Amino acid sequence: MPRPRIERRVKEPPRFQRFKPVGIPARLLERISLTLDEFEALRLADYNDFEHQVAAEEMGISRPTFTRLVDSARKKVAKAIVEGKEIFIMGGQVYFRNNIVKCVNCGTIIQTGFEENVSIVCPDCGGIDFINLAQQFGFGKFHRGRHRHGRR
Ligand SMILES: [Zn+2]
Repeated sequence: MPRPRIERRVKEPPRFQRFKPVGIPARLLERISLTLDEFEALRLADYNDFEHQVAAEEMGISRPTFTRLVDSARKKVAKAIVEGKEIFIMGGQVYFRNNIVKCVNCGTIIQTGFEENVSIVCPDCGGIDFINLAQQFGFGKFHRGRHRHGRR
């Protein structure tokens, strides 16, 4: 029997999906894909300064796996910065603990859960249209359900 794939825990969707050098049309840029678990590893290790062991537990993976992930993420980001590539965040075997929505009108970021169906109003501009970032990364109901049942 195939071993079930382990979903790695990611706190919330990245606020932005694409990063590109200024002044070069996207069609001329080579794209480097950073997976969501690589993004999370980078965030925990280098943005939050977590020890690898602590960060690994945060994501529900082993320390060696975490170290491989963060190494891979650093290499990709370094290559993109040095060589001028586009970074595109996508993919990875993950689920989000929380969600984020972004106001279409002013770009304000609001942290949300997955359960709430209540309508949100932007505290900065009063707007009511939002981009659901988890959805943007391809996560819909399926992952919400799994999360709620606490499969870890
Ligand atoms: Zn707004």
